[in-house]
Amino acid sequence: MTKIISPPFATKKSLWERVYVLEILRGLFITIGHLLSNMGGLGKGRVGMTWQYPETPKPIDNMWKGEHRLMLREDGRPRCVACQCCATACPAVCIEIVGADYGVAGVEKYPAVFNIDILQCVFCGMCVEACPCDAIRMDSQKFVGAVYEGPSRILDIDYLLNNHPEHKSKVSERIY
Ligand code: SF4
Ligand code: SF4
Repeated sequence: MTKIISPPFATKKSLWERVYVLEILRGLFITIGHLLSNMGGLGKGRVGMTWQYPETPKPIDNMWKGEHRLMLREDGRPRCVACQCCATACPAVCIEIVGADYGVAGVEKYPAVFNIDILQCVFCGMCVEACPCDAIRMDSQKFVGAVYEGPSRILDIDYLLNNHPEHKSKVSERIY
């Protein structure tokens, strides 16, 4: 004789639960609530959940890691003192720095060469964490476009010093 054993999590459902009417109505109210809240975004650059990109860029959180940039001092010189801490911390070994001397006693070095191989970079942010001078940041708010082999994969010092986040939410304007 077959003996049917109910699983321990099985609970007895009421009549309403068994015809699912209340649950269906509850689901509909949730869906309509989301629909109405999304409709409230009309005129704010999005229709429903669709952002009108690229006409209306989607806001990017300040913590988001994009292309790198090098910070400047008030006198326009780079903050970077070519200490190599970022290059040492980089797990992808994709930072190349060549330091140079201002030739003035007591003044730190500066980076004559500062290259980041963006194809090798894993966007971990270790370089930003390692820098003792807050000289490198990843808050340019620029996406990295498709990159192919060749010199275009290198972010050089001129690019990094001018890679500021005025052009928010844009794909990098570099020609890859
Ligand atoms: S984000 Fe990470 S992988 Fe990219 S350059 Fe910085 S340390 Fe290297
Ligand atoms: S960016 Fe910062 S950590 Fe890297 S070499 Fe310059 S000062 Fe040193």
